[in-house]
Amino acid sequence: MKEVRFHNSLTGNKEIFSPEFPDKVRVYSCGPTVYNFAHLGNLRAFLFVDLLRRSLIAFGYKPDMTMNITDIDDKIIRESIASGKTIQEFTAPWVKAFQEDLESLNIQKLEHYPKATDSIPSMVEIVKHLQSRDLVYEKDGSLYYSISKFKDYGKLSKIDVSGMKSGTRYDTDEYEKDDVRDFVLWKFPKQEGEPSWETEIGSGRPGWHLECSAMIRDVYGSGVDIHTGGVDLTFPHHENEIAQSEGAYPNENFVKYWLHSEHLLVNGEKMAKSKGNFFTLRDLTKEGADLRHIRFLLIAAHYRSKLNFTKDRLEEAEQSVSRIQNCVNRLLEADSKSGSASINSNIQIPEWDEFLDSLADDLNISKFLASVFETVKETNQALDQGSISEEGISKRLELFRKIDSILGILSFELKEEVLDSEIDEMVRQRQEARQNKNFAEADRLRDKLNELGIILEDTKEGLRWKRK
Ligand code: AMP
Ligand code: ZN
Repeated sequence: MKEVRFHNSLTGNKEIFSPEFPDKVRVYSCGPTVYNFAHLGNLRAFLFVDLLRRSLIAFGYKPDMTMNITDIDDKIIRESIASGKTIQEFTAPWVKAFQEDLESLNIQKLEHYPKATDSIPSMVEIVKHLQSRDLVYEKDGSLYYSISKFKDYGKLSKIDVSGMKSGTRYDTDEYEKDDVRDFVLWKFPKQEGEPSWETEIGSGRPGWHLECSAMIRDVYGSGVDIHTGGVDLTFPHHENEIAQSEGAYPNENFVKYWLHSEHLLVNGEKMAKSKGNFFTLRDLTKEGADLRHIRFLLIAAHYRSKLNFTKDRLEEAEQSVSRIQNCVNRLLEADSKSGSASINSNIQIPEWDEFLDSLADDLNISKFLASVFETVKETNQALDQGSISEEGISKRLELFRKIDSILGILSFELKEEVLDSEIDEMVRQRQEARQNKNFAEADRLRDKLNELGIILEDTKEGLRWKRK
C-alpha cells in the first residue's frame, strides 16, 4: 500500500495515514443543512469529500463513508413553521435538490446519508452517559454541557479556554468564534409548533452538535478514521463533537485524523447564504455554464487553500478541461483508425504511480494537474509527429482513464466527426426530398442534421447551414 500523508488539524502536522482497517476506511463528513439549495461554497466542501474518496480508492483502500443531512435546526424550524409544513415536508425537496447537485457534479455516492432526526435514540444515549459522568446541567428545562469539566476542551481548535465565562451558556446552535461558553445539548420546546421528542432526558429537541456524535455511533458503533468538514466547523461544532463523544465514551477512539477544507470566497469574503454573495449550480447552468467546468474549478485548488470564485476562473476551467478532452479525443480517433500509428515509439509513457505520489502528499492536486498537463503536451507532440505506436495510444488512453477516476470530467466516447462535404450532401438530399414531396425522408434528414448540431438558415442566396 502506498504511503499516504494527510494534514491532521488536531496536531497541525502532515501524518502518515494508517486506518484501523484498510478494507473499511471509516470517513464521516459534515453535510448540508437542508433548507435551501446548496451554494458553490458548500459544493466545494462536498467535492473535497469526493476527491478524498476517489483518492482513497486509487491508493487501494476500500472506503466506507458517511455524510449526514441536518434536517433539524433553528432555521429549518423557523421556516417550516412559517410555511405551515412539518419539518419532513419542508426538508424533503431540499434533500432531493442536494442529491441532484451531487449527481450533476459527478460526485460518487457514499455508503451512508443518515438524517439527524433518525438518530434521536443515540443522542439520548450520549446525553445519559454524559450525565452519569457529571458533565451536564439543566437550566429552564434545557440541558447544557459543562465544558470546564472536560479537560481536553479546545484541543482541536486550540481555542483559549482561560477567558471562559464560567456557567454562561449558548442556546443557539451557531456562535461567534473565540467565544467559549457551555453549549446546549437538548433544548426545551419554546414556541408553538416546534418539533419535540418525549425522551428519557426530557421533552425537547437536540442541539446541532449532538447529531454528528450520534450518527457516527449509529453508523460505525464507535469512532472513525477520518472526520471532515469546512474550516468554519472546527470551532465550535467539531470541538463540541469531541467533548460529547470523548466525554461520554472516554475509552473509545473518536477520530484519528481531522481534515478541514478551506472556503470558497467571493471578492475576498466567504461565500455564504447570510451574505447574499452566493451562486447555486442552477444559477450558473442557467447562464450556460457546463457542470464539468464547475467541477474542475472547484477541485483544481488544494483543499487547504482559499479559492476566490470569479467568472474568469470559470473560463479558465473551461479551457483546461477542453485541453485535456481534446487530447483524449485525438487519442480515441487515432485508436479507432488502425494503421495510423507508427510501428516503433521510444517515447516513455508516464507512470500512474507518479500521479498517485502527488495525491498521497495530502491530496496535492496542483502537482497532480501539472503532471496531467505535461502528459497532454507530450501526447499532442507525439501525435503531431506521428511518433506514437498503437500500444502507446492504448496505454495513454488507459492512463487518461485513471486520471479521470480522480478528476471525473472526461468523456471517452468518440464523437462522430462529419465532414462539411457530407453535410452539403445531406442538405442537398433533403431539398430534393422536399421537392419530390417525400416528407418522411425530408424529416428524417432534418432530424439527423439536428442531431449533428447543424442549423439551417434560409437566406437570399438560398439555403445555408452552420454548426451550433
Ligand atoms: P451548511 O449547509 O451551511 O451546514 O454547510 C455545509 C458544508 O459547507 C460545511 O462543511 C461548511 O463548512 C461548508 N461551507 C459553507 N460555506 C462554505 C464556503 N464558502 N466555502 C467552502 N465550504 C463552505
Ligand atoms: Zn457535523
